[in-house]
Amino acid sequence: MNKLIIPAILFILLSACSQKERLEYPHYDIELSLLPAEQYISVTGSWKIPLEPGNGTIEFYLHKQLEVKQLLLNGRDINRLSVEESDISYMPDAKKYTIKTGSLRNRTATISFNYDGRITDWNEESSSVIGEEWTEMGSSFPWYPYSTDYNPFSYEVEILTDGNLCTFMMGSETRDDYYAIYRAENPTNDMVVCAAKDLKTISSNQYRCNFKLAHTSFSEEFTDTLVSDIEAILGLFNNWFPPGNNKICLVESMRENGRAYTRLGGIYLPGFDESNYYKLRKHYTWYLAHEIAHLWWYRANSNTWEGWLNESLAEYSALRVLRELYGQQYFNEWIEAKEQKSEGTAPVWQLNCKGGQALTILYDKAPLLLYELEQKAGTHSFELFMWSLLRHKASTTEEFLNILEEKQGKEVKEWFITRLKEA
Ligand SMILES: [Zn+2]
Repeated sequence: MNKLIIPAILFILLSACSQKERLEYPHYDIELSLLPAEQYISVTGSWKIPLEPGNGTIEFYLHKQLEVKQLLLNGRDINRLSVEESDISYMPDAKKYTIKTGSLRNRTATISFNYDGRITDWNEESSSVIGEEWTEMGSSFPWYPYSTDYNPFSYEVEILTDGNLCTFMMGSETRDDYYAIYRAENPTNDMVVCAAKDLKTISSNQYRCNFKLAHTSFSEEFTDTLVSDIEAILGLFNNWFPPGNNKICLVESMRENGRAYTRLGGIYLPGFDESNYYKLRKHYTWYLAHEIAHLWWYRANSNTWEGWLNESLAEYSALRVLRELYGQQYFNEWIEAKEQKSEGTAPVWQLNCKGGQALTILYDKAPLLLYELEQKAGTHSFELFMWSLLRHKASTTEEFLNILEEKQGKEVKEWFITRLKEA
């Protein structure tokens, strides 16, 4: 071998190794002691964040009832820390922490933390709860330092319990009676801890997808029905959309209040009832399809009006599933109902996400605009457009409109803007 080639190969190998060492995603390493009957948690851990040059602050949120005992930045006390009320509407029970990092030499911040507390306060619509019967803790009451900036992330969480609790989180699981370790290697955007005395988990593989179902109340027959209904929905989405997350889970949430939600790789659904499911199967298909669609449609910021992208694309994808599975007439009934509900509502453009009409605009009015677009463009072109939005990871209205212009021309783009701005 040529003497020059060996150093060249060595150089390539070494630089590949050092690149691998550089953190690709933020990563959490957490030990969580969980006592749901006392609504008590105790958390120690570290959070590694790759920082962009010039990035001098780190903001995160924690539930207001958690008492911070230690907070270190790269092993040192933090001098410049401020704590304020939450400014995020879906986290009303959180406090916002801001750390001024200054310029860090290695561009990786490691925040070490230790805190504990009894969490007894959450708002009625919260999708996070803690209690003896059911625990489901995610970002809506942030039990871990949650940041909208350092997202998605990977994690390793060890949950310690008193031995009478079954737990579930996204990711691979190693468990014994008193502990369970979860590793999410696929980056995700929340750490949802579920726990109950009788929580069961089943696993299956389909469409190159590893699927897990965590539940407490389902019969075996019902589990089979549910898995096959989900397979049908995933089959359609895998035809229409580029490959999505290949590891997903669905959790039967035992909450009494709060809505269903989807995180990258996980769907959390309250309000499942077996006998109701068989009676209202088409309606449940819609419910499942909307949430499963969010495995693809999640990139817009839901805290702003841009959230219309997430919701309308997920909802219209769900309506298309209904059309495929139950026919045009059933689809038309949904369209008509949405037309009636949307009458007299404000424009989608710059919609007020906290306003009284927000849900109607997001779930009824905006999907109707996509329906109009599909009619105007034709089904095949519309599918290519959706594919392109996903391929380009579109996350803003501007990106959506640019891709629309690229695929359908300036005139269609201008028409769509007018429709977005119309009451
Ligand atoms: Zn949704």
